[in-house]
Amino acid sequence: MISNKPFLTIPRRDAEERPVQERIHDYKKTAKEMTKEQITEQATRCMNCGVPFCHAFGCPLLNVVPEINNAASRGEWRKALDLLLDTSPFPEFTGIVCPALCEGSCVNGQDGDAVAIREIEHRVIETGYENGWVHANLPLVRTDKHVAVIGSGPSGLSCAEYLNRAGINVTVYESAEHVGGFMRYGIPDFRLPKSVIERRVSLMQQEGIRFETNVCIGKDISPEYLLRNHDAIVLCCGSRAPRDLKVPGREFSGIHFAVDYLTQQNRINGGEVFDFDETKSAKGKHVVVVGGGDTGANCIGTAIRQGALDVTQIEIMPNAPIKRAPNNPWPEWPRIFKETPAHQEGCKRQWNINTLEAIGENGKVKALRCTEIEWKRGEDGRMFNVPKPDGAFVLPADLVLLAMGFVGHAIPDIVKAFNLRCDERGRIFRDADGMTSAKGVYIAGDCATGQSLVVRAITDGKRVASGIVKSLL
Ligand SMILES: Cc1cc2nc3c(=O)[nH]c(=O)nc-3n(C[C@H](O)[C@H](O)[C@H](O)COP(=O)(O)OP(=O)(O)OC[C@H]3O[C@@H](n4cnc5c(N)ncnc54)[C@H](O)[C@@H]3O)c2cc1C
Ligand code: SF4
Repeated sequence: MISNKPFLTIPRRDAEERPVQERIHDYKKTAKEMTKEQITEQATRCMNCGVPFCHAFGCPLLNVVPEINNAASRGEWRKALDLLLDTSPFPEFTGIVCPALCEGSCVNGQDGDAVAIREIEHRVIETGYENGWVHANLPLVRTDKHVAVIGSGPSGLSCAEYLNRAGINVTVYESAEHVGGFMRYGIPDFRLPKSVIERRVSLMQQEGIRFETNVCIGKDISPEYLLRNHDAIVLCCGSRAPRDLKVPGREFSGIHFAVDYLTQQNRINGGEVFDFDETKSAKGKHVVVVGGGDTGANCIGTAIRQGALDVTQIEIMPNAPIKRAPNNPWPEWPRIFKETPAHQEGCKRQWNINTLEAIGENGKVKALRCTEIEWKRGEDGRMFNVPKPDGAFVLPADLVLLAMGFVGHAIPDIVKAFNLRCDERGRIFRDADGMTSAKGVYIAGDCATGQSLVVRAITDGKRVASGIVKSLL
């Protein structure tokens, strides 16, 4: 019997992970599926708040979370799906990889555990697929307008989907072999199986959207050609300049950007044929991941599956607190300690560590010289770090993976090719509808906002599509 205040009596439950000893031998999704019954019970924990912060403050797509939860709690899966698809074009992606910004602002989370909103979303969309309720949405009227979308990451896919729904003919150009952007080549299969992307792309093809892969705009096709043959162009090229580690010895072989390393394994898993780079394999190596975030965690899981001898993750910042700090109040996104399934697979983590030098032998990296540091606040209020006395140490490292985030928006080739106006920080100018300084050339996703999240890229693609529809139809 369910109480009339289930949030008081039913604890939060998350998807179980497969046992470590099983999952580290494959690249299949680590999380097990929760049953519909478990999800229904979890959905009853939603309080249906008068002011649902999850919806209006948390979720960039403005998913009507309490209504979806309410329908799921009654087992009304079709209704929950319709509500979800009203605002979200691809809940199968966000239902797996979204950090669940909504949960950060869930009222239940103020004094307990937030509702498992992302897991509910995942079950709702998968139930939709299982029952054949998710299908191609063909536009009622097809117009004579043509738009080229450059890049097939979440922003490009979302923009293409909404343009097509409005009857606009869309071609998505993608320089890589497969569609999906960082969802395909950055996020490992053990988090997001690529069949999830393929299933959606197949629906989009049935809807009439054309995908041209292995085509690099600016190289294989000129901007002039695109402009001549389309009524508008949307640049959804992502933000792809990783932050570098500027230390002596950086030039040694075996030091790679995390994204390049993850891409190689994703290409192998995707069956692509290419020249394998052994220096990007962790097999039999001491691996050090520089950077304590989620991209670093993806590297840890990948290195363990490749057969690393050991994996250490170092982070220059202090460890985050277990609970929210006073300067990080609800409903802000909680900046608290996080452990991912990859960390549980066997890795050492160290915080307050600065890298001083890469030490090499015969041109190959062999170790990192590091130091423990202390953070202090200067008179101007800014934080700075100093090395701890006797804090220096050496970490054996045959493979160093740099996962320290991305810098700027960095698509200089595209900026030049389309002659786009940028501000002093290199951000490409765009108006409220997403149009750049070049007439008919729009921009969406990470290349407009800087590196962000799948849900934000999807939201931005949707927003820019509506700007284009407004101007063309
Ligand atoms: C390792 C990693 C893990 C991540 N994990 C998560 C996560 O768990 N959750 C989350 O929410 N976010 C995650 N992110 C962030 C998220 O993936 C990105 O914010 C999101 O993919 C950005 O979408 P986008 O469409 O703007 O660009 P991208 O996904 O970067 O896609 C851009 C596409 O444009 C193509 N392209 C570029 N130039 C051209 C050209 N000239 N011609 C043709 N095609 C071109 C590229 O090949 C690429 O496919 C992760 C990012 C990385 C790197
Ligand atoms: S898309 Fe992300 S933020 Fe929005 S409801 Fe789903 S999990 Fe929450």
